[in-house]
Amino acid sequence: MVSPPGRPLVIAHRGASGYLPEHTQQAKALAYGQGADVLEQDVVATRDGRLVVLHDLFLERVSDVARRYPGRARADGHWYARDFTLAELRGLAVTERLSAAGDAAAFPGRFPPWQGEFRLHALEDELALLRGLNATTGREVGAYPEIKCPAWHREAGIDLGVLLAETLEAELAARGPLPLWLQCFDPAELRRLHAQGFRLPMTQLIGRVPAEQGDWAGQDPLSTAGLAVLARHCSAIGPWLGHVWRDGRDTGLVARAHEVGLAVHPWTLRRDRLPEGCQDAEALVAQLCHDIGVDGLFTDHPDLVVRARARVGERTGALD
Ligand code: CA
Repeated sequence: MVSPPGRPLVIAHRGASGYLPEHTQQAKALAYGQGADVLEQDVVATRDGRLVVLHDLFLERVSDVARRYPGRARADGHWYARDFTLAELRGLAVTERLSAAGDAAAFPGRFPPWQGEFRLHALEDELALLRGLNATTGREVGAYPEIKCPAWHREAGIDLGVLLAETLEAELAARGPLPLWLQCFDPAELRRLHAQGFRLPMTQLIGRVPAEQGDWAGQDPLSTAGLAVLARHCSAIGPWLGHVWRDGRDTGLVARAHEVGLAVHPWTLRRDRLPEGCQDAEALVAQLCHDIGVDGLFTDHPDLVVRARARVGERTGALD
């Protein structure tokens, strides 16, 4: 199978997060400039019911919240975004991601922690950035928002899935079409949103151990039968890369998903944290694009995937 130009989609995981602090506007703009086709947003809710772009439910691994608000951690030691207003979150200084202990960079060799001027932003800010760049460049780069921990949010008093889906539908109605996928790890959440009548393209994320992630309606999501169930309400799956490629080989998942009409967008290609058994990121991307035929790829290094994809195209004549 030869991927046509522009495929697989290069999905900038938290922006060009291999180069700049994740989920900052700078990281998103860099990803856009590197040629990403899609920018990813992790979405959590604030105290005042706003949607903020943030990977964790809590703040201390990417911001100075512990220093600014020493008394506002919960009993478990975390400072939760849900306990702060959007205005408070916008005032935090953002850093390159820290280790769980907070004393070192999570990814040594990436952007130095605590340097530069970085901030958190709302989902609406990022969509405005994306729309603005699409207007100035004439490109059609898309968005890929993720509902983070929907069950946790419901217990915390907010229906994040419905709020996000309604926000995206309103955005499309007000400002016109935009390539868009709504992603979630929790299978019950996407089934629920579909049952409630939302018709946004949905991507079911599949973690390393799917059974740990909730109710799969009695099916193994990696099996043909399980994929067929997902295909009723999803347009894509977002599996862990190890479900697609293992020990140098195609596992067959992409072909099984394609059989039932699902696109496949695995995560996450990182130059500085390659999967076990892989020494060459560009060769892996070439194999994923050309031999395995993935439809998209989440990456912290969009430029690497754009470059590797172009080389595959040159070799196969797909760009002729
Ligand atoms: Ca994500």
